[in-house]
Amino acid sequence: MENSVRKNPSRREFLDRAGRTSLGLVAASAALAQEPAAVPQAPFIDVHTHITQKWGKVPELTAEGLLAWMDIRAISQAVVLPLVSPESWDHPLSTDFVLRVTEPHRDRLIPFCSIDPRVPNLSGYQAKVDLLKRYIDAGARGFGEHKCGVPIDDPGNMELFKACAELRLPVLFHMDNERNMDTPGLPGLTRVLQQNPEGVFIGHANGWWASISGDATQKDMHDYPRRPVTSGGAIDVLMDRFPNLYGDLSAGSGANALKRDIAFGREFVLRRADRLLFGTDYLSPGQDIPQFDLLRELDLPADTLEKISRSNACRVLGLA
Ligand SMILES: [Zn+2]
Repeated sequence: MENSVRKNPSRREFLDRAGRTSLGLVAASAALAQEPAAVPQAPFIDVHTHITQKWGKVPELTAEGLLAWMDIRAISQAVVLPLVSPESWDHPLSTDFVLRVTEPHRDRLIPFCSIDPRVPNLSGYQAKVDLLKRYIDAGARGFGEHKCGVPIDDPGNMELFKACAELRLPVLFHMDNERNMDTPGLPGLTRVLQQNPEGVFIGHANGWWASISGDATQKDMHDYPRRPVTSGGAIDVLMDRFPNLYGDLSAGSGANALKRDIAFGREFVLRRADRLLFGTDYLSPGQDIPQFDLLRELDLPADTLEKISRSNACRVLGLA
């Protein structure tokens, strides 16, 4: 495996070659070297960021602050995710807020929308469809970060997922033992996928990423397991079964899933190159982002790096 993998061009070879032919890919090299990128067209699309408000001692991240950080990191476009459920964050980030603050920057900031399935006045399928349509008309390109305190296959969730599938909104969901809960093997998510073959689902957070390993426990699904991965993980089983299932590489959980067993992680990225999406979960000025060091460590072939950093996101988000 190691030898056959090494026959592919290395990331450095890819970036060196790319640097001679494309201004945009020079930016990838700059990002990986943690140097400011001085070109307008950059290769990364970040599928997971948040614009936040001032709350307590935590500094806010404005649209301008996010854009300035994206320039330094050579990220051309970023998905900006609301957080509407009480279990999500320390303050709610409404869909209307995300639509408003991204509105002057829609060439680079891609808003998603979100609905909590427990809102009593939105019970029923059609009410959810109608509100989602309003958000789509206002610019929303996907649904999430879906991070609510119900099981992943909760009836209200199932209505939302069906509506998103009908409206062609990709769903980015957070899964752990408090939000969109499931059990080892992901039987709840399996039901979601079985019932929504037209939908696109993007898995994120501890419960999802612990399921990269065949021996994932319930405790792992709210944790950052460090032991080596065993084969037969639910993610692999479900990705084999469902072509509409993707993984969001953002946050500590995404980085840990690949780093905990770097040999497995590298092989997983090569095998699932069409199903993985670069993301950071950047939401606070000065936040440490492990994904850049991880990409350097993985030393991926050029085509794999291009897929996970950009072209998969273009396909899922319907970008040109
Ligand atoms: Zn997030």
